[in-house]
Amino acid sequence: MVHDDVVISHEPGHQMKPSITVIGSANVDYIMQVPHLPAKGETVMDASFFQAFGGKGANQAVAAARAGGEITFVGALGNDATAKVYLEGLKADGLNTDHVSMERDTAGGSALIMFDGQGDNYLSVAPGANACVTPERADAAEEVIAAADCVVLQMEIPLETNERILELAAKHETPVILNYAPANNLGLKPSEAIHGLVVNELEAAALAGEDADRVDSDSAGALADRLRKNGGHQFVVITLGKDGSVFADAAGVQRGKAFVVDAVDTTAAGDTFCGALAVALGEGRSLADAVRFAAGASALSVMQVGAQSSIPRREAIESFLK
Ligand code: ADP
Repeated sequence: MVHDDVVISHEPGHQMKPSITVIGSANVDYIMQVPHLPAKGETVMDASFFQAFGGKGANQAVAAARAGGEITFVGALGNDATAKVYLEGLKADGLNTDHVSMERDTAGGSALIMFDGQGDNYLSVAPGANACVTPERADAAEEVIAAADCVVLQMEIPLETNERILELAAKHETPVILNYAPANNLGLKPSEAIHGLVVNELEAAALAGEDADRVDSDSAGALADRLRKNGGHQFVVITLGKDGSVFADAAGVQRGKAFVVDAVDTTAAGDTFCGALAVALGEGRSLADAVRFAAGASALSVMQVGAQSSIPRREAIESFLK
């Protein structure tokens, strides 16, 4: 392993803001709430439209910045009208955007979502500019990978880019927290750089090759421990929505409580969790403390509608946890 304890910060207990490099996707979500989903060829009227800034990479970068980290985001935006507004939003959150490219030849990553408010939806995603986050872009970001206390990754950019990032992280001994989401492509090569793995129960089942129906809050602890040992990770966290989480490290398996709140929209709950977790670990906190901080941040996020708009700031997280 690159690091043999669970501490991510270079100086355990230090008070400085942890420096974290988040590499991944940025999407604009175009969302229609419709009275019912249209049949083929049908036009449904009376829809309500929302536009939201999302994408797991940018969400986690924003979550980590608002939770108190010094964040560099590496990603790509497109040639559409929203790109500049998106970039300004990232800067307003204090992110270093030197490694965010504005692609001239493609639109930004976009998700087209239609939902009926009763649990059924149509979803489609155009990766757009996210496909431009190539291994060469990872090479160009080597300095910010080397200098970070940790790197945070998800699975919405090309697989070969994540593999290059893991090689660079291993070379510079920078620990990586991997949010293996979505778990559509299970082909990522194992890497000693993956210090921590964060997944929800569906992703955990996919990674373990198990039937998702067989993973519940009782069996998740053993699964987290198995994924940790098989992957050679320092820790694995499996999030379980309103049932909280389980986490495994060398000391064993523990449960993390979710806070009881009025949830209105769980979009970006997992992203908020990952961003906040990385910051707390970077501050030298224990895994149990970091999981509690992340659960507080994500509980606040589910009380608001939207992706980036729902992510709380550190002051709000701290006063909620009191
Ligand atoms: P994902 O969005 O990746 O599927 P989860 O749904 O497991 O992730 O949520 C991540 C974390 O967000 C949970 O571990 C929990 O702490 C918090 N969370 C999610 N849903 C709720 C909820 N309804 N009430 C309180 N906390 C929640």
